[in-house]
Amino acid sequence: MITNQILNMIEKYKTIIIHHHVNPDPDCIGSQLGLKYIIKESYPEKLVYAVGEHVDRTEFMGKLDKIEDSIYSDALVIIVDVGDKLRVFDKRFLKGKEIIKIDHHPLTEEFCTLEWVDTNFASCTEMVIDFYLQNKDKLNMTEDAAKVLYAGLLTDTGRFYFNSVTERTLSHGAEVYKYGFNKQELYANLYYKSIAEMKFSGFLMNNFSYTKNGLGYMKIDQKILDEFNIKPEFASSMVNILANITEIIMWIFFTEDKKLGKIRVNFRSRGPIINKLAAKYGGGGHIFASGAHVENWGIVDKIIADADILCQEFNK
Ligand code: AMP
Repeated sequence: MITNQILNMIEKYKTIIIHHHVNPDPDCIGSQLGLKYIIKESYPEKLVYAVGEHVDRTEFMGKLDKIEDSIYSDALVIIVDVGDKLRVFDKRFLKGKEIIKIDHHPLTEEFCTLEWVDTNFASCTEMVIDFYLQNKDKLNMTEDAAKVLYAGLLTDTGRFYFNSVTERTLSHGAEVYKYGFNKQELYANLYYKSIAEMKFSGFLMNNFSYTKNGLGYMKIDQKILDEFNIKPEFASSMVNILANITEIIMWIFFTEDKKLGKIRVNFRSRGPIINKLAAKYGGGGHIFASGAHVENWGIVDKIIADADILCQEFNK
């Protein structure tokens, strides 16, 4: 079993460094910190680091580590929730002695010593819980690990709502839910919005565009962000505000990101497969949830035209 091979490799190393992907979401940070806490609790003598940088919405989940380059030469690196080299945050991961990948995205490239890639998992945190359960005789869960793993499960499954949810997702959820972390505090961190953010949500509901083929979309430029005093990360994370509209089968947010100098694109669908469309524009992801970054609003209009054709074909 791959989960046993992963444990054998972890046991071999004194130093383990876990990396997340660029612009990490709670599922990615939950996998990273959850794995760190489990390994540390089970093997207190090991040095386990979770490196990288938070985005605003993951800050509450726990501290990340700053480490020297020299630590990598004798270390095992684990990358979580990411399949391709380009999207791993902090390229020092390549300096590790061996690399393990744990990911639930469709496989795009193989470059690790061990690759555990399985799209049947609704979230990467579900994989980490699975890894723990498969090796329960040797691994220990902690309350902190359970909390961040549960946070990842909640966010990547839309609170156990998306198609990707299986009986296993729910039972793995129950497995960590039983630990005593404060559920209400977790929900507040994940779901409470400021008044400015709530008013922005109202603006989105009133102003999204849609086509007769069932494509919904929203263009959010810097002027709108300034008007509502909203950060691009928050704006793009609101894409699922268009998720439950009877007439809409695919929905896309386009958000200007001054810092990146690009437009963030968030694709979602409950009909047409969209990761090929995302790949056409330099991005990728899951069949019903993908992302990309594009250069200008001209490309945005091309994506809208392509997406609308996909909706039309799907309806046929
Ligand atoms: P997001 O819309 O950012 O929540 O991302 C949805 C899914 O698409 C996630 O699983 C991401 O890993 C993936 N994704 C987002 N942006 C990109 C990108 N630029 N390239 C490849 N995959 C991406």
